[in-house]
Amino acid sequence: MPKITFLGAAGTVTGSKYLLEAEGKRLLVDCGLFEGNRELRQRNWAPFPVDVASIDWILLTHAHIDHTGYLPRFERYGFRGPIFADAATRELCNLLLPDSAHLQEEDALYAARRKSSRHDPPLPLYTVAEAQAALTRFQEIPRAGEFRISPQFSVRTHDAGHILGSTWLELTVTEAGKNTVIVFSGDLGRYGEPILKDPEPPVRADYLLCESTYGDRDHPSENALEKLAEVVSRVARRGGAVVIPAFAVGRTQLIMYLLRQLEDQKRIPTLPVYVDSPMAISVTGIYMNHREDHDLDFAQLEKSGDPLNCHSVHMTRSVEDSKKINDVVSPCIIISASGMLTGGRILHHLAHRLPDSRSAVLLTGYQAEGTRGRSLQQGATTLRIYGQDVPVRAEIVQLTELSGHAGRSELLRWLSSLPAPPKRLFLTHGEPGALLAFRDAISQKFGWKAEIPAYKDSTYLAG
Ligand SMILES: [Zn+2]
Repeated sequence: MPKITFLGAAGTVTGSKYLLEAEGKRLLVDCGLFEGNRELRQRNWAPFPVDVASIDWILLTHAHIDHTGYLPRFERYGFRGPIFADAATRELCNLLLPDSAHLQEEDALYAARRKSSRHDPPLPLYTVAEAQAALTRFQEIPRAGEFRISPQFSVRTHDAGHILGSTWLELTVTEAGKNTVIVFSGDLGRYGEPILKDPEPPVRADYLLCESTYGDRDHPSENALEKLAEVVSRVARRGGAVVIPAFAVGRTQLIMYLLRQLEDQKRIPTLPVYVDSPMAISVTGIYMNHREDHDLDFAQLEKSGDPLNCHSVHMTRSVEDSKKINDVVSPCIIISASGMLTGGRILHHLAHRLPDSRSAVLLTGYQAEGTRGRSLQQGATTLRIYGQDVPVRAEIVQLTELSGHAGRSELLRWLSSLPAPPKRLFLTHGEPGALLAFRDAISQKFGWKAEIPAYKDSTYLAG
């Protein structure tokens, strides 16, 4: 009978990897990097629990690094099979994987300078060359209809509404002539969000893996547009800067969309908006090109203008231009990555703007344990950046309404479309508190008994 092994996003939100086995064939769903605290990151370095060369295929739900960022490491371990993804996911990975490799190489160089590694010379987790090699293994799969991987596995992808190209998977496993349907939620987006279509409802599942990032809470019901308008106006009045650490894929585009709406409605002054992330700039282009993902309202706006661009937007690609933003003393908006403040250009903006009480930092997405973003969220009075303790005097505003993840009620809504309970329901992609709370919520609403698998757990999918 088919077997599943939880090789990531089990008891935590990163490192998504699920191994399916049937008739001696092995399919890995997602191949994500672990991010967050040291213990989690160590897993990226530990020997992989399964012989990588024995895996036949990889199938991706979407392009985020915590779902794809381990692919170049697989190259080193000898994976030589196809990597299946839809067209938008493939294009995004073309940007994200070499960028991730570049960061790994920079980390190794930094460790070499600081002599802070056990290895001499310190090695990167993987190289840009390995990321490029992994990209040659991508094969596009259609966004509609059935795609047969092998006699054992076939897949239908469905819109997940989380980022461009994001899907949840309805995977049919055939063993000894018997079909079993396993649904992988991937990361689920929110209902009624601008730009992307809503998550499609699941219609059948013998077994289901459901993400639980916000299994313990709903997003505030406040109007995100309203809140954004208030913050921008308030900061502009007192002469500060609004610093928005954003995830290059998804959040940046949503924020630009909202700012543009507010400008058009004259609810905020037209301020210079610095998009200080070459990645985000490129991703915005890919967002515009993949119309198959756009919802009707967005398609309508596209006809009349440029809905992902503000009126006074400055795209900075070079490091010199990025640093020049520090010289801007009049009110402005700075959008830069990374979203959890773990690295990237956002750090020099924070070092410069955090001590300024006129400015504000707008946290727009999930902040994992152990990240600077989580520290700010929890009211840290200083933040360690480039080896210095930077005082936090700027206003810290949370705009979790802009999260790319479904809140608890939205996850329950998605599950509620199943006509019959799955034989087993596995809760993944959540921190322990969120997983437990979500299990309780499911029990209360549906009377279903959900399971919370641990890292490296394996189980047969019987019956
Ligand atoms: Zn994601």
